[in-house]
Amino acid sequence: MPHHQIVIIGGGNAGISTAAQLLRKNRKLDIAIVDPADKHYYQPAWTLVGGGAFDILKTERSEASVMPKGVTWIKQKALGFAPEQSQVTLDNGILTYDYMVVCPGIQLNWGDIKGLSETLGKNNVCSNYSFESAPYTFECVKNFKGGKALFHNPSTPVKCGGAPHKIMYLATDYFRKHGVLPKADVQYWSGAAKLFAVPQYEKTLLEVVKRGNIKLNFLYNLTEIDGPNHRAKFVGFGEKNKDEVKEVEFDMIHVTPPQSAPDFIRNSSLANSAGWVEIDKGTLQHVRHSNIFSLGDASGLPISKTGAAIRKQAPVVVTNLLDVMAGQLPSATYLGYTSCPLVTGYGKLVLAEFDYNNTPMETFPFDQSKERWSMYQLKREVLPRMYWGAILKGLA
Ligand SMILES: Cc1cc2nc3c(=O)[nH]c(=O)nc-3n(C[C@H](O)[C@H](O)[C@H](O)COP(=O)(O)OP(=O)(O)OC[C@H]3O[C@@H](n4cnc5c(N)ncnc54)[C@H](O)[C@@H]3O)c2cc1C
Repeated sequence: MPHHQIVIIGGGNAGISTAAQLLRKNRKLDIAIVDPADKHYYQPAWTLVGGGAFDILKTERSEASVMPKGVTWIKQKALGFAPEQSQVTLDNGILTYDYMVVCPGIQLNWGDIKGLSETLGKNNVCSNYSFESAPYTFECVKNFKGGKALFHNPSTPVKCGGAPHKIMYLATDYFRKHGVLPKADVQYWSGAAKLFAVPQYEKTLLEVVKRGNIKLNFLYNLTEIDGPNHRAKFVGFGEKNKDEVKEVEFDMIHVTPPQSAPDFIRNSSLANSAGWVEIDKGTLQHVRHSNIFSLGDASGLPISKTGAAIRKQAPVVVTNLLDVMAGQLPSATYLGYTSCPLVTGYGKLVLAEFDYNNTPMETFPFDQSKERWSMYQLKREVLPRMYWGAILKGLA
């Protein structure tokens, strides 16, 4: 039975940055990353790809090229856990560990919307939520000559809570710049109860909504899409809309798939009642297994799931894991930092940064709730370089 000192499940943003940071602390650590993927993606840029402002090819690299030197890459899928025996079941057998970090990301449940998988990428049905479909979003935006443009946000947790509406602001700005906005009926259909959780950022977003004459519909789930006939079915919930059915015709629709913890996590003893890895929200250590940590989208932290959050989680996992390996108690605490670079148009961005209590935790000395050109440049020019060149190398 192969054995490693530290096994990391998932070599995405969280797994690679954690491994790289661990190795910077101690080159001698025996670390294995389990991940079946051939490719690694910089997903935050897919919003800009959908707006025609970023090259999709720059968001993809081979997984081999981002694997930190010194790590053993086990190119297999994890299927289940036996934490009492410190075992992981893989596609091709069983692996044992002394310590484990669980970070396989979030699961996209495209099939939960009837008709979506058949029509995605055609019939003006687009989504920035995959490498394959993000470029088609810009095709839809470019080809839109008026009518109804729908943007949807599911009621489940999603990665980057801002992404379902950021693309709406970009599209609306594109329509404005190309004289199409007066003929456009832009509608947001959301499973959330409001536009954004933090009031001071939401205030700016509501001005952007007003500027684009966007109609907001809250507490609706998209249940069905009929691509060829350009019809979307939304079902309301909550006291006000309960079971109300709205069939809406569209000229384009951007869909965000419902999302959940990966099934193999959800069905394991590592999960909390909602399916995510059950960890302490300060130490990021598993609540029942002291040799297991988790971070990233699969972890059960009550925050907006982002790469920016991982940047603050990874050093906490690294410090606390090394503490536990040294026989000490975890000494580092994660405060719930997350960030959402809210693109509000071409050259405009509100950099939302906040903690577990939705209290702003801002980096810059200026008012970050204002739309800024400099913050747009940060997202488009600086963060992608920082991701490939520093974050994945354990340097940031
Ligand atoms: C459209 C879009 C816009 C976004 N915008 C932003 C933004 O502006 N700012 C921001 O900070 N974040 C943004 N994000 C979110 C960010 O990309 C994610 O939060 C981040 O990638 C999560 O990292 P992760 O390591 O948890 O998961 P991922 O990076 O998704 O990696 C998960 C890895 O686990 C592997 N895996 C899956 N299942 C298994 C298994 N069974 N066994 C082994 N390995 C497995 C996968 O192959 C993958 O490599 C955006 C995401 C999207 C889609």
